[in-house]
Amino acid sequence: MRPAQAGYLQCVSGTIALTFDDGPNPTWTPRILGALERRGAHATFFVQARRALEHRELIEATLAAGNEVGFHCLDHVRHSQRGWEGVVSDLEIGLEMLDRLGVRPAAWRAPWGIETEVTRMVAAERGLRLWGWNVDTHDWRGDPARRMFGALEAQGGLRGGDVILMHDALGPGALRDGCGETVALTELLLARAGMDDLSPAPVSACEGVLA
Ligand SMILES: [Zn+2]
Repeated sequence: MRPAQAGYLQCVSGTIALTFDDGPNPTWTPRILGALERRGAHATFFVQARRALEHRELIEATLAAGNEVGFHCLDHVRHSQRGWEGVVSDLEIGLEMLDRLGVRPAAWRAPWGIETEVTRMVAAERGLRLWGWNVDTHDWRGDPARRMFGALEAQGGLRGGDVILMHDALGPGALRDGCGETVALTELLLARAGMDDLSPAPVSACEGVLA
């Protein structure tokens, strides 16, 4: 389960970053937001731009609660399957859509977490920080929250610096028909973080350091 990516950015000690990709979704994003709010916690949502435009109210609610909106993609295509122009146009059109919502992301997670040399050059040009993860919950598979949480505990539990991958909407390849188990897992993780004195924060507030 960890580390998933060599050289990934992690949070500073004492913080963890819960990250949610592929949303927003009108059913599941509000439930994740509710779970965060009940614990006074904040997270990062790496959004798909068209979904963000379709659900402007969810982006507003996400930001109003003190969370971060990062950029995920316009089209969910691996950068390894795209050339320079494909990566640039996906980013530019996607960022322009978010700009219409008043969102100017500082953080970017590429589709499938696949970064190429082009991704890194374009990110540097635009001043975007690329974020992968070191804890993959595999929540897209639809496993019960308790099983996902147990797998993490078996790996030593939460640790300061962890960047945790989850999804608040269905993306390509999802083997489930909803994100209810992700909501439940979020609640378990937040309870655990509270016990371990770890502070869940948005990635851009975590002062990412290279692992
Ligand atoms: Zn995704």
